[in-house]
Parts: sequence; C-alpha cells; structure tokens
Amino acid sequence: MNEPTIELSRCENCRARFVPTDGACPRCGSTDVRPYPSPALGTVLASTELTNPPPGWTAPHRLALVELPESVRVLAVVDGPLPAVGAVVAVRQDGPVYRASSEPGA
Ligand SMILES: [Zn+2]
Repeated sequence: MNEPTIELSRCENCRARFVPTDGACPRCGSTDVRPYPSPALGTVLASTELTNPPPGWTAPHRLALVELPESVRVLAVVDGPLPAVGAVVAVRQDGPVYRASSEPGA
C-alpha cells in the first residue's frame, strides 16, 4: 500500500522526531539529522477560524493544530470546513506551509 507520508526529521543522537526539516535537533542540538517519512494522518488538537486574517490570506482563514505520529505537532492551514477537535485529517506540505484537509487520501 502506498499511504501518503509527510517528511519529518529524526535526530540520530537522541532519536527525537521534529519539524522543520532543516536545522539542528531542538532537543539536543545535534546536527546529525536525517529525513524521516511519517504517515500523513494526524489528529486535530485545536482549530480556529480567522475572519480578519493577515495580509495575503483570504477570509475565512482556518487553522488547525495537528498532532502527527511520533507526537510531532504542526500548525496547518485548513482546506475546506473547520475540523472538530479529535478529527483525523490528512496533512501535506505545500512549500513552507502545512495544509490539512478532512478528506484523508484526497
Ligand atoms: Zn537530538
């Protein structure tokens, strides 16, 4: 099966998994960091909708804090309706932005 994955980083010194995927380990400072593909499904911890978003974004601007496997959390822009806390969403990376959508596999 070809499940969608998202690239995290894994520290070869202390085994921490984290994002962003560049730079040193935030836990121990090691620069021995390798790419680590993780399943791209996560659980929504919190979500909100901004009616007056920052310049460059259109309203309503929906954001979700998503916990991926390995306890890595990302703040993602939501495509589609606002997900409820506890919902499972698919996360993908779009340049420097993480995007979440409620249709896994889409
Ligand atoms: Zn480390």
